[in-house]
Amino acid sequence: MLQQLNDATEWDIIIIGGGATGLGTAVDAATRGYKTLLLEQHDFAKGTSSRSTKLVHGGVRYLAQGNIKLVREALHERGLLLKNAPHLTNNLSFVLPCYSLWQKIYYGIGLKLYDVMAGSLGLGKTKIINAKKAKDILQTIATKNLSGAIVYQDGQFDDARLAINLAQTAAENGATVLNYCKVIQLVKTPPAVTNPPKKTEQAGGGLSASKEKICGVIVQDEISKQQYQLKCKVVINATGIFTDEVLQMDDAAAKNIVSPSQGIHLVVDKKFFPGVDAMMIPKTEDGRVLFAVPWHDKVVLGTTDTPIESHSLEPKPLQEEIEFILHHINKYLDVTIQRTDVKTVFAGLRPLVKKGTSKKTAIMPRDHTIIVSSSGLVTITGGKWTTYRKMASDVLNTAVIAAKLEKKNCVTQHLKIHGWINETDKNDPLHFYGADAIAIKKLCAQDETLSELIHPSLPNIKAEIIWAVQNEMAVTVEDVLARRTRLLFLDARAAIEAAPTVAQLMAKAMHENNDWVQQQINAFTTLAKQYLLS
Ligand SMILES: Cc1cc2nc3c(=O)[nH]c(=O)nc-3n(C[C@H](O)[C@H](O)[C@H](O)COP(=O)(O)OP(=O)(O)OC[C@H]3O[C@@H](n4cnc5c(N)ncnc54)[C@H](O)[C@@H]3O)c2cc1C
Repeated sequence: MLQQLNDATEWDIIIIGGGATGLGTAVDAATRGYKTLLLEQHDFAKGTSSRSTKLVHGGVRYLAQGNIKLVREALHERGLLLKNAPHLTNNLSFVLPCYSLWQKIYYGIGLKLYDVMAGSLGLGKTKIINAKKAKDILQTIATKNLSGAIVYQDGQFDDARLAINLAQTAAENGATVLNYCKVIQLVKTPPAVTNPPKKTEQAGGGLSASKEKICGVIVQDEISKQQYQLKCKVVINATGIFTDEVLQMDDAAAKNIVSPSQGIHLVVDKKFFPGVDAMMIPKTEDGRVLFAVPWHDKVVLGTTDTPIESHSLEPKPLQEEIEFILHHINKYLDVTIQRTDVKTVFAGLRPLVKKGTSKKTAIMPRDHTIIVSSSGLVTITGGKWTTYRKMASDVLNTAVIAAKLEKKNCVTQHLKIHGWINETDKNDPLHFYGADAIAIKKLCAQDETLSELIHPSLPNIKAEIIWAVQNEMAVTVEDVLARRTRLLFLDARAAIEAAPTVAQLMAKAMHENNDWVQQQINAFTTLAKQYLLS
């Protein structure tokens, strides 16, 4: 795919950003038949898209805020995603503990409405249960004053793996998708040269800046440092929290539109939540929603909503966010989760769009925003993972009009995502690979050492490393341990211990030397230490 950057051909669409939004857009554009290129500066889903709460949901919180349109749209998309990517998604029961009759009525009615809004794509009926039943389901829940619970259904997924499968789906439909390729400049049609200034125009005039049109990008391969100048009909900016940087590549005076809001998660052992269901606290002391969600045989606790001034690809959890989650989750349990019990802490940044003057990110809208600049740059930001497909369709419709491309209809509603399989055995540790699991098992049949575990405390096997290098564009130890497998997000210490094994196997598959192995182990260890609490 990298070699295609040497061709002088003109792309219909260049997408900047390989997170949920950009990858979804690449799938949509390629399946409509446009010549599509996606460029990601780091690895696919390195940004926010690997750091979510892993819910495919309408958003019970947004229902409480009265954002009916967003909830209805998200519930529809939830239903489609569960059908289009069954290997990466599942229907999960959420238990919402209630401490008064009033709470049971209030949340019971709200969640019944949530069901109704999902229509034929609903995942199951909301039930009201008594305190004893709630304790049977959530065995560690504190029972003091517990009057019962509401049990409702929502969706869950593996975010980074969905990103990788979307990249594969886009490529299979003709798109070129590249990780480690950073857009460093937008190229515009030259002003004045082709239209010399008329006498009536000011000296030095010509085409004004607003008449310049974007006609390509300059991209740097972040591994070889080689640069390429590429031509295209339209550029889509899908860079999440980096949106403003690309807007300012277009117009240095462009105002910031994104307000990053940080959310962190703590990951703990299943022993703190031995059942199979999730817990949802609808309103903590300061009005936030808190989840405890079983995921890959661990439990993800979160999240927070903290306005942050600066942004980076590796946001740092704040101590007060860690304390907030531990303090509040422990209030609902009759066991105590200590800092030392935390296997991993990870932070992500929501690319929220500023509206009005409020700095409180928790009340900022979660809908997506699309903007077309005077030079034709099409920007999409905001939204959520769950609605990535609808966001992609909306931004592409806008880009087609902005660039006067031939109109073609969106075909992704029922498009099967790479790995789709009719039936999955959720007890098979490779089930997240869907249809690809067969090929991974074949690797083990050819070389039985590849059936060995990467680390004794996690179910991933060595064949997954080879698979990730050969088929999923993984080029660093971090790619494998953070986003192809999810070891870093499940148990940071185990991931650090696994790094030498992963580096050695990758080096063999990629024909790299011992210096590379050592450099990869060091880089990964430094990074992963930031995911440790103790
Ligand atoms: C704490 C938290 C919890 C969440 N939980 C959920 C949830 O449970 N369910 C849900 O539906 N949604 C959830 N979301 C929202 C969801 O994760 C985001 O809306 C979504 O991941 C944003 O995707 P994105 O593609 O817009 O941004 P990103 O994933 O950040 O992708 C943008 C990409 O652009 C790349 N980029 C930037 N500049 C350049 C450049 N110059 N050249 C090339 N590439 C560039 C970046 O490297 C990055 O990978 C959550 C968000 C947070 C923060």
